Amino acid sequence: MDNFEPHIYELSAPGKHGTNLPRLDVPETDLPENLLRQDDLNDFPELTELEVVRHYTRISRNNASIDTGPIFLGSCTMKGNPKLHEEVARYAGFAAAHPLQGDALSQGALRLMYELQHYLGEISGFEAVSLQPAAGAQGEFTGILAFRAYHLDRGDHDRTEVLVPNAAHGTNPATAAMAGLKVVELKSDARGNVDMDDLRARLSPRTAGMMLTNPNTLGLFEDQIVEICRLVHEAGGLMYGDGANFNAILGIARPGELGFDFMHYNLHKTFTTPHGGGGPGSGAVGCTAALAPFLPGPRVRKAPDGSYELYTPEKSIGRMKAFHGNFGMLVRAWTYIRTLGEEGLREVSETAVLNANYVRARLKDLYPQAVDRICMHETVLKGQIAGASGVRTLDIAKRLIDYGFHPPTIYFPLIVPEALMIEPTETESKRTLDQFIEAMRAIAREAVETPELLHEAPTRAPVRRLDEVRAARQPVLRYDAEAFRRLREG
Ligand SMILES: *Cc1c(COP(=O)(O)O)cnc(C)c1O
Repeated sequence: MDNFEPHIYELSAPGKHGTNLPRLDVPETDLPENLLRQDDLNDFPELTELEVVRHYTRISRNNASIDTGPIFLGSCTMKGNPKLHEEVARYAGFAAAHPLQGDALSQGALRLMYELQHYLGEISGFEAVSLQPAAGAQGEFTGILAFRAYHLDRGDHDRTEVLVPNAAHGTNPATAAMAGLKVVELKSDARGNVDMDDLRARLSPRTAGMMLTNPNTLGLFEDQIVEICRLVHEAGGLMYGDGANFNAILGIARPGELGFDFMHYNLHKTFTTPHGGGGPGSGAVGCTAALAPFLPGPRVRKAPDGSYELYTPEKSIGRMKAFHGNFGMLVRAWTYIRTLGEEGLREVSETAVLNANYVRARLKDLYPQAVDRICMHETVLKGQIAGASGVRTLDIAKRLIDYGFHPPTIYFPLIVPEALMIEPTETESKRTLDQFIEAMRAIAREAVETPELLHEAPTRAPVRRLDEVRAARQPVLRYDAEAFRRLREG
């Protein structure tokens, strides 16, 4: 087991080194006392180059990644990131551009941003796009601040409530609360959609807007979407579209035409800029002409002489991010859109939806579907296997690791008990889907016949079940000989 390998600090010994420095060929001088380090460097391990290389290579192999296997994390859209994007993002003109070099020396980069603004607007049916936000959650925050600014600009001061369905991603209510507004939760109906009666009852002159993901977090299309938007607008509110599930409708439906006023694009989900491990991401936003003056700057426009220039919209809510957003992510998303074109993007969504329904249809006899309907790009099942009373979704997820699969999203959305949220994406082959389905079916049999295998899982991973809450609350980020000894002794 990897954990029983000596830690890099234990391999350290005085005098080991990885480089040979050239002989000193300039005169030695004394540095002033106040510039000299006062404490010892004794926290630095001393190792050979080969030991360091093996250490990092070994721990890198403990990582799950899209380059080593499928990651069916529902809502996260963990699809293949084409290597071409990496090559383009590394072109010196992009990678070595300095953010302060000025518009005149940045025409290529600005053109790319201008075109990406245009493409995203076209794909989603919006008038204006800002590439500033660094993540979906920051795009949401941008949108809700823009809603508030819009209402206040019209002298409409009492709109302090944001409607959020109870199936929503946690960032939606968090966003509304951070923007200083009140979250009003909406019920879902038996079909897994927004409960229309509840919506009608909660709309009021205090409604600033509504946040909705479509398809929603149950992987289901909100088929009342046009009516929902009509009702919210009639009450004077605005519609925010959480675009995390845009992978399901590319080239098929345009949120701007469905009635949304503002949305974010998770470029790191739908548009294959790599994600995992915390970023960088990009949560570009699009909106209607009425909201465009409030967008964060800088945006890119064409000057009368045909050159590209940065500007800040007149009533902008301000910057969301330093400089030009996460530019490297913009290069990758532009490349993706240009590579696929209109038909390719539509095919992405058609295949993603087909793959999710294939998995759904082949598993729902063993894992009941949260709502028995055709799904979009992801499906929500329940880890409630008939005849396996002591087994929970967590056990199923851990057992999948023993079968070599990264588990899907679990216990989300919160309204589904024992939820298993599976998003195969369009980039996985039928063979991979079949292997996953076979593993899930085998685990369902084990859950009834040999449940201890599930309770003990994972047994084939570098670590066993972790205390995830403690790991998040009290992370040990530095080498600690004592903690390491305890971990090793289990
Ligand atoms: C991922 C996700 C978000 C948040 O996006 P980040 O880029 O992770 O900040 C919001 N809503 C839904 C439905 C998501 O899946």
